[in-house]
Amino acid sequence: MKDLEKKARAYAMKNALAYQGVARLGSVISALFNEGLKPSEVKKYSKKISGIVSEVNKLSPEEQAKEFAKLENLISVREGREGLPELPGAKKGKVIMRFAPSASGPFHIGHALTASLSFLFVKKYGGKFYVRIEDTNPENIYPRAYEMIKKESAWLFPGNFLKIIIQSDRMKIYYDCAEKLLRKKAAYVCTCSQEEFKQYAEQKKNCPCRGNSAKENFERWKKMLDKNGFKEGDAVLRFRSGMQDKNPAMRDFPLARINLTRHVRRGNRYRVWPLMNLAVTADDIDAKMTHIIRAKDHRDNAERQRRIYLALGRKSIIPWTGFLGRIHLKDMELSKTKMRQDIESGKYSGWDDPRLPTIASLKKRGYKPEAFWKFAERIGLSENDKVMDREEFFKLLDTFNRG
Ligand SMILES: [Zn+2]
Repeated sequence: MKDLEKKARAYAMKNALAYQGVARLGSVISALFNEGLKPSEVKKYSKKISGIVSEVNKLSPEEQAKEFAKLENLISVREGREGLPELPGAKKGKVIMRFAPSASGPFHIGHALTASLSFLFVKKYGGKFYVRIEDTNPENIYPRAYEMIKKESAWLFPGNFLKIIIQSDRMKIYYDCAEKLLRKKAAYVCTCSQEEFKQYAEQKKNCPCRGNSAKENFERWKKMLDKNGFKEGDAVLRFRSGMQDKNPAMRDFPLARINLTRHVRRGNRYRVWPLMNLAVTADDIDAKMTHIIRAKDHRDNAERQRRIYLALGRKSIIPWTGFLGRIHLKDMELSKTKMRQDIESGKYSGWDDPRLPTIASLKKRGYKPEAFWKFAERIGLSENDKVMDREEFFKLLDTFNRG
């Protein structure tokens, strides 16, 4: 019985983590049938198990995650919790998904876990998996990241699904998309200062540029592209989503801006750079993305992108979107900028220094891609945040790496 109690607690944590922090007695009992609990014994134990469930439900999701990490080895792996859930609307051979790291540094464990989940779905159904290197902000690029991301992607996502694309190679697609939006009067060029625009947005008032004709907007767009036209900071392309939108993040958000910083790959060839929501939507439409799994902090961006799809008349191909909670890894430095500084200062020997949580380092230490896949599968499509410390994280990863 002692063992059963522990297992009940583990299943309650697991169930709670999957359902917004609230475990259900029925689910826990049916899971325990896989652990040898007999239907005839339910009556005998149900009060005890019910007590365990309500204890677990009083814990915060962080505490549940922490405790589950300690208990989960107790529970059977044959109970069907392994394996991916079904992806809504997924068709065999036709699942197209992506992972979009920025070019600011190589992969670390956070990337590997998020990306692996999408990769596993593509692997399960068949289709295409894009790794899209996002580098349309010329100020935030680490030149070596391109090669490292390519190499690490090939290692983490083997098979024929992988396709690597680089956004700065695809500027025409973004310009075309911007011009389509201008033609559909869904975008306009705004010359208000950031401060002025912020005030209009706060007061839910239209900025003066919003009333300009389509013709005027096209002329202003040309002036953005022209080196003798607008200067950096003078003008941005905005999406006409509504200045009265109840979500302030939606109010006529920017799509493209002028940035004269020299681009690592494209030099000074372009002066207008798409911002994330324009580039992402144009790429997703172009690749016919079917499903997207992204961090839940991107919820507003997902909504912005959905609106761009609608403005372009592409409602029928809006991808299904699933959100993931944050995995907060305590006592682990995951900032690429910080790691880079510490490498440059000599604190670490390189990106594959054994103390760093990068994929380059873990690969060198003998971890296999499957360890990350299994870890990602275990986390699943959950919006709950998880907190783990270094020791817990590596304990789990080691388990997955062994078998
Ligand atoms: Zn304006």
